Amino acid sequence: MTLRTDTEALLATLGVDRSAFTGGGMASFSPITGEEIADVAPATAEEAAAAIARASAAFRVWRMVPAPKRGELIRLFGEELRAAKAELGRLVSIEAGKSPSEGAGEVQEMIDICDFAVGLSRQLYGLTIATERPGHRMMETWHPLGVVGVISAFNFPVAVWSWNTALALVCGDPVIWKPSEKTPLTALASMAVLARALKRFGEAPEGLVQVLIGGAEVGAALVDSPDVALVSATGSTRMGRIVGPKVAARFGRAILELGGNNAGIVCPSADLDMALRAVAFGAMGTAGQRCTTLRRLFVHEDVYDTLVPGLIRAYDSVTVGNPLESSALVGPLIDGAAYRAMQAALAAARAAGGTVHGGERVAIGPDTAFYARPALVEMPEQTGPVLEETFAPILYVMKYSDFDAAIEAHNAVGAGLSSSVFTTDLREMELFLSARGSDCGIANVNIGTSGAEIGGAFGGEKETGGGRESGSDAWKGYMRRATNTINYSRDLPLAQGVVFDI
Ligand code: NAD
Repeated sequence: MTLRTDTEALLATLGVDRSAFTGGGMASFSPITGEEIADVAPATAEEAAAAIARASAAFRVWRMVPAPKRGELIRLFGEELRAAKAELGRLVSIEAGKSPSEGAGEVQEMIDICDFAVGLSRQLYGLTIATERPGHRMMETWHPLGVVGVISAFNFPVAVWSWNTALALVCGDPVIWKPSEKTPLTALASMAVLARALKRFGEAPEGLVQVLIGGAEVGAALVDSPDVALVSATGSTRMGRIVGPKVAARFGRAILELGGNNAGIVCPSADLDMALRAVAFGAMGTAGQRCTTLRRLFVHEDVYDTLVPGLIRAYDSVTVGNPLESSALVGPLIDGAAYRAMQAALAAARAAGGTVHGGERVAIGPDTAFYARPALVEMPEQTGPVLEETFAPILYVMKYSDFDAAIEAHNAVGAGLSSSVFTTDLREMELFLSARGSDCGIANVNIGTSGAEIGGAFGGEKETGGGRESGSDAWKGYMRRATNTINYSRDLPLAQGVVFDI
């Protein structure tokens, strides 16, 4: 069976109409072999405008459906996802090149956020606030916001959409999804799974959740439309620099989930076996193509010569291979451009005095596939390519002697997504988590930078964009807040003691 026939069979099982993935004119590839597995039809500007109009009409209906009832739709979606987990997970592996366990894990994340959102549908509460005026009550209410445009990246092709969609729907907002042009098939499949939940639910307005296949220009239709109240965009900082100002210029709301340049600090007291395993998974897992991938490591000089040789051995022995035909831990890069970006970064690191271990291309399957051995680069200092995110498995390792200086270096990059410290010293741990510690949206102790759970708010600071998605109170980003003051007295006292007698 070729990957194409495998893909077509999976899409059919998942309920996607054949016309959606054949003869559309936009080729879709699997990074596992680089072969074409489908061709899909990109949305036209007219189709995008029509989708926004349908979503706006759906909003007027959906916002009046009680939130716990909206949660019932998400409960059904969670059920359908459970039933489709094996097939959808495999499709994630085919389209994004993930190992079977990571493909299935991504679908599990979708299920988890559904469970979270169902509970949330009965907890969209505001505060009651003490008022200075007698006979008054002050409170806040949360209302649906409007149409949510979700623009997603290739590396979490379905989970990020589900984080947004499960929350947006219980919050009363329709969703239009513009998936990555590199992963349209998992988007079509997810929509087919959702369609089954919508059918069982029975009462959802037409156009409640839609997908628009295509590239940046289709995303731009959502970004530019005043009828899209919130743009939730996940991808590179380069993309965010374009999208953020455009949404701000029309006073729209944006959740930006952009690039990371995540770091760890390994202290003298660290459990080095644990640190080694966490670093290996964080830096090499998903072939270095997670936004939370560990990219920089600061190792104390007292433990450098113990930890780093062990890490280099792990890099030498890690298995690189076709994730569907082997138990390899490291799969393919998404495409040739990613491989070339990796080689360019390694060349720049060498030029800056770095010693590169690994990083070479590994011949697996046809030459349209790009597999590379993960690279560990010992750097004399944090400079050049170390300051940027290269979306490939490169770990820059640097020696430190002073913890304060290590924290300074840790924070001295543009991105601010995820971070870790490995220590058993209480003072170092608390300092890392304190106001003068890590400046990232995620700061961990004795676990790696990647592999977040849905219960916490997910996102980062600085060039990572400042957005928060998923758990905690991230739902507030999908609603508008109204402060209400109610006067149940017979007087009209003014705030701040102002007198205005007429
Ligand atoms: P990308 O920026 O190339 O594309 C992301 C999405 O943005 C795609 O759907 C693309 O079509 C769209 N897009 C690009 N330019 C646009 C524009 N001008 N207007 C509207 N839409 C536009 O990113 P990618 O290569 O798919 O993904 C990798 C990047 O995403 C990495 O930088 C990674 O760190 C980041 N990422 C961040 C998070 C997070 O939560 N912070 C999660 C996953 C990935």
